[in-house]
Amino acid sequence: DTPSIGNAGFPSPWASGGTGWDDAYAKAKAFVRGLTLVEKVNLTTGTGWEADRCIGMTGSIPRLGFRAFCLQDGPLGIRYTDHNSAFPAGINVAATFSRGLMRRRGEAMGEEFRGKGIDIQLGPVAGPLGRVPEGGRNWEGFGPDPYLTGIAMAETIEGIQSRGVIACAKHYILNEQEHYRGRIDVRIDDKTMHELYLWPFADAVRAGVGSVMCSYNKINGTYACENEWTTNYLLKNELSFQGFVMSDWGAQHSTLGSALGGLDMAMPGDGGAAPYGALWGGALTEAVLKGDVPQWRVDDMAIRIMAAYFKVNTGNFSSRPEVTFSAWTKKSIGPLHPSSNKTFTVVNEFVDVQSNHGALIREIGAKSVVLLKNENRALPLKMPQSIAVIGEDAQDTPGGPNACAERGCIKGTVAMGYGSGTAEFPYLVSPATALKLQATSDNTVFINTTSNWDLDAAKAAAKGASVAIVFATANAGENFIVLDGNAGDRNNMSLWDNGDELIRAVASVNPNTVVVLHTAGPVIIDYAVQHPNITAILWAGFPGQESGNGLIDVLYGNTNPQGRTPFTWGKSEKDYGAELLFNSSNPVAPSQTFDEGIFIDYRAFDKASIEPTYPFGFGLSYTTFDYLDLHIQVQNVSASYKAMSGATAPAPLYGVVNKTAAANTAPEGFEKIIPYVYPWLIANSSTGGSGGFGPAAINGSAQPLLPAGGAPGGNSGLFDVVYTVSATIKNTGGVAGTEIPQLYVQLGGDENPFSVLRGFDEIVLKPGEAKTVTFGLTRRDVSNWNSTSQNWEISTKEKFVFIGSSVAAVRLHATLPPPQ
Ligand code: BGC
Repeated sequence: DTPSIGNAGFPSPWASGGTGWDDAYAKAKAFVRGLTLVEKVNLTTGTGWEADRCIGMTGSIPRLGFRAFCLQDGPLGIRYTDHNSAFPAGINVAATFSRGLMRRRGEAMGEEFRGKGIDIQLGPVAGPLGRVPEGGRNWEGFGPDPYLTGIAMAETIEGIQSRGVIACAKHYILNEQEHYRGRIDVRIDDKTMHELYLWPFADAVRAGVGSVMCSYNKINGTYACENEWTTNYLLKNELSFQGFVMSDWGAQHSTLGSALGGLDMAMPGDGGAAPYGALWGGALTEAVLKGDVPQWRVDDMAIRIMAAYFKVNTGNFSSRPEVTFSAWTKKSIGPLHPSSNKTFTVVNEFVDVQSNHGALIREIGAKSVVLLKNENRALPLKMPQSIAVIGEDAQDTPGGPNACAERGCIKGTVAMGYGSGTAEFPYLVSPATALKLQATSDNTVFINTTSNWDLDAAKAAAKGASVAIVFATANAGENFIVLDGNAGDRNNMSLWDNGDELIRAVASVNPNTVVVLHTAGPVIIDYAVQHPNITAILWAGFPGQESGNGLIDVLYGNTNPQGRTPFTWGKSEKDYGAELLFNSSNPVAPSQTFDEGIFIDYRAFDKASIEPTYPFGFGLSYTTFDYLDLHIQVQNVSASYKAMSGATAPAPLYGVVNKTAAANTAPEGFEKIIPYVYPWLIANSSTGGSGGFGPAAINGSAQPLLPAGGAPGGNSGLFDVVYTVSATIKNTGGVAGTEIPQLYVQLGGDENPFSVLRGFDEIVLKPGEAKTVTFGLTRRDVSNWNSTSQNWEISTKEKFVFIGSSVAAVRLHATLPPPQ
């Protein structure tokens, strides 16, 4: 039941400024007005794969001293450089449930990207959201709850952009698996789109994100990077996105379809047919001159790109940092244009951008550890007489932490997944190294075995130790690397490399076995939960360069764990309701309907009444908390919600296109770098013409605004606080600690999950101390999407609020009175 957009299509909405964008938009207009057509096109198109120093680079505007845009991965730090930090993965900062840490991580990453001269950081990630736990890239994002992910997106984006770097919300949208990602057609309904997958992107847009990356897959029959519904209708109209849409690398499939379907920047730019070798560049110039793409559309691409630039930068181009690295070589001297092996010069200046970020990384590492089990006060450790550290996943990697490109190996401890979402480690403190140091200072006997397969050696090491700490991993990543038979997505939910057998072997001989998991997401560990000799289980996720240090902070009690699991732990893959498409009966044109709708992760468990091993939001502390005094206050704001109506202004034009051949072809004598992508026409070419685009797609007259639209992130009335809910949290134990009270709402009826997360906070409490926590529930938080009215609506169903320490541990509850 997606809205009928008709066969004729409709135009890509043109930027118009608005909340948070007016200044940037005014500067962009002044800049773009003075550009020629080829200069505009040069901003929209990458120069080709490995054509320049960054993972993606556009053309420049030499006449105005505006250097090319440098785009670089990824979501947890700078990929392919040196002297940068390797931050904890998105899934870890999500587990902290700390807005402050999400923000500070974004700021620190932004500083590093800026320090290397990068204009656009290719992160953060809200797609995949995490429909299925096996999804290869789930760990790059913030977990399967759209509310938690939305807040993490907003904090990360504001952090990055506050440091002068454009963030990129990716991958838009429904890129939920790696298998077939380049061609899978995901079929989805409008309600599921709004209530689940689009939700965190709306928060990203509301936070002012400068760019969005469209994904590889198709949605309801059309590729994401030429999809009028997802890009023109939802993102640019309903969510009023004012920045630009770039393609994922190679996700652009047409010249006209992508231009009219709302794409603004083609990455990496090459990959089209002769003579241009690109779908845009000269081919786009030609399409504009022929009238297949209206001038306003190309003007709007340039406006959007420059508005994102001016949103985070001043107008003074001379203060813009230069690019000081090459993604393609670790050496100082190399080709400026690697694809053509041209212009050897200094391409790496080895600029150290790490600052003191190691301390923040350690803090996030410690605060993201989720303590899942702790029997007999096994933890924190108090100067044990001996510890046995067991397993490959505790160890230093032979050859160093970057020994395998893009972390595509299973040697040594795992502190990030594999693929483009990686950064080079400056160093990696392994658990074994950190534990050995701690043991030395405590006079603890330290025993260490590395093999996961030599179970006799593991047992010999564990037997008699005061505590046996056994490590295991389950890795995941991007599909261009196949690791132990896993092509990005995990094949199953068991531990890798004999991990489950290793844990069982150690527990069979040591009654104080502690399990540490560095996994991409949930694994099946029910046996360990039940095992009487396993006294503690910790999930440490992918913590980045300070892995071992953050872990000992928790193991030894310097940090009282505040991590809460950002996903549900099930007893079987089947419990999750949705399935990853591993083997399509039509591998050429695979398709999958997301029939589970909004029921993923804890929503699926609740619907089917399946008891999880550990529920979403669960995590233990070394202290205990009481929850008291629930209060609900109805706010008087209902009159302010008005469906947006009216229309846009007609598409503006910036400058006049000079159609002469001289204005649009390379200047005489210009020596081209082959195979660089240029914006110039090539004589006697033909872009092949259009296909499937009706007159509506090129119609630049005023367009209707959508009821749920009108402001970045959607109708501003959606973000009015309609209720405040408060409670008192008290530390009833003997040590200081941080509680993460969580607010869940039951929206009522079978069409809604039993409850959905709608608030959380971190409350730091000394022993005996009590504090009040207050949550604001917005109109969107208590609404459902109505496909017919194309708007959010508060239903008349009876609603409840729950405050708890997980989705399953309700501590306080009340009926939600009707709104005023
Ligand atoms: C990935 C993106 C990444 C891009 C550039 C693609 O394969 O899906 O996440 O930003 O490559 O490296």
